[in-house]
Amino acid sequence: MRTLDGACLCGKVKIQVPDEFEYMGNCHCSECRKFTGSDYSSVGGISSSKFRFESGDEYVTTYQKSEETELAFCSCCGSSLYSRKVTRGMHNIRLGILDSVPSHKPSFHIFVGSKAPWLEIADNLKQFENGPV
Ligand SMILES: [Zn+2]
Ligand SMILES: [Zn+2]
Repeated sequence: MRTLDGACLCGKVKIQVPDEFEYMGNCHCSECRKFTGSDYSSVGGISSSKFRFESGDEYVTTYQKSEETELAFCSCCGSSLYSRKVTRGMHNIRLGILDSVPSHKPSFHIFVGSKAPWLEIADNLKQFENGPV
């Protein structure tokens, strides 16, 4: 089984997941925009049981955004790492932290109804007013 490596900007936090994302897409909700500081967040979903830290988990700080969602970031460099869906048992990995190329590509946009007003979506991927699909 192929594995994918990922790391934060400063390199202290390293993660590894199998190349088995169950979905991959772009979230345009205002909370992802705030948290990542980017127009939208590209994530890949994988079962929490398949996610592991290679090193640096002591540098990971979490922010409980809601009962269901925990956001994780590196306390040293601030890189956004993933959101964890507590009851669904999923990790939504921020694709930007990957150093390996996954075999999947984002296939949808969610929360397009609250996308950044300056952003024009210029691809043909499926769009959903809200989410998740
Ligand atoms: Zn870091
Ligand atoms: Zn979002």
